[in-house]
Amino acid sequence: MLLCKLYDKWGSTLFDQFKKSLSKFVKKVSLKEFSEKELNNFSEELRELLIKNEVAVSTANEICSLLVKKLLKTERRRFSNPKPIILSALKDVLLQVLTPEKNIDIVEKIEQSKQERRPFTIAFFGVNGVGKTLAIAKLGNYFKSKGFSCVFAASDTYRAGSIQQLKIHGDKLKIKVIAQDYGSDAAAVAFDAVNHALAKNVNVVLIDTAGRIETNINLMEELRKICRVVEPDLKIFVGDALTGNALISQVMLFNNKIGIDGSILNKVDAVKKGGAAVSIIDLTKKPILFLGTGQKYTDLIPFDAKKLVQQLLF
Ligand code: GDP
Repeated sequence: MLLCKLYDKWGSTLFDQFKKSLSKFVKKVSLKEFSEKELNNFSEELRELLIKNEVAVSTANEICSLLVKKLLKTERRRFSNPKPIILSALKDVLLQVLTPEKNIDIVEKIEQSKQERRPFTIAFFGVNGVGKTLAIAKLGNYFKSKGFSCVFAASDTYRAGSIQQLKIHGDKLKIKVIAQDYGSDAAAVAFDAVNHALAKNVNVVLIDTAGRIETNINLMEELRKICRVVEPDLKIFVGDALTGNALISQVMLFNNKIGIDGSILNKVDAVKKGGAAVSIIDLTKKPILFLGTGQKYTDLIPFDAKKLVQQLLF
């Protein structure tokens, strides 16, 4: 409930620039008819707008071609106002692109595994600095507020300070952190955390992992080993909305190498364009589960495609 309120609070400023350019675009539409020729010019302009707002090229192409197809099928009297028709078609198309193959109700899934008396395991992946550790802390806080007990696994045994950072969050949130020394086997730490959860009847295991992209091949091997050893219930990619197009290549890399179930997109409080959010879902066909909206533990909102489309197109 509180998180829903937070979402509404964010409504007016979320992806501000994207919202403004879409609204300007719809306002100045002056199509006389929905002919192929007129629609092609119109869709070229929309394509440019989407790409400028960091929508990936292939996603922008898809949005435009779905929109043109939809409008060609629409019956419209010549010289009647095209704007409401275009607005409604654009909403439908954006919603279609923002709808993943399968949605995930994470709280329901955890509830189910709690009833089966087994810990629900989530592994988080993403490059350094995107807000992975903070997102884990925010989610720990969120799950606790839903009545679930949690444990953190400090499986980023590579980056100096990462174990310490997770321990600080753990202390503040009163969530136990399972850790070994820097340089130790990341999968063994995750395994220990799952065993701890089994022994102590803890509901959720949240596994932090390394994000040193510069040694890509070793990193992917390490992450795959974690997945083999603990078989996480969910593999979540964590991305930074501020990185724009780099975000797209990151999510594709992790999805291709490890296979993700969904994403968390951080720092949307600081992003003005935000087209990457649309692209992540389109390109992976996997849902965005949460948006990170700041540096406090409560700055996390469940992603809602319908609300995002409403915000973008009103
Ligand atoms: P990691 O290296 O991926 O684990 O990233 P951290 O969790 O250490 O976060 C990196 C920086 O990003 C920190 O300064 C965080 O406070 C900041 N950060 C994380 N999430 C958000 C967010 O949603 N909004 C803002 N404004 N900053 C964030």
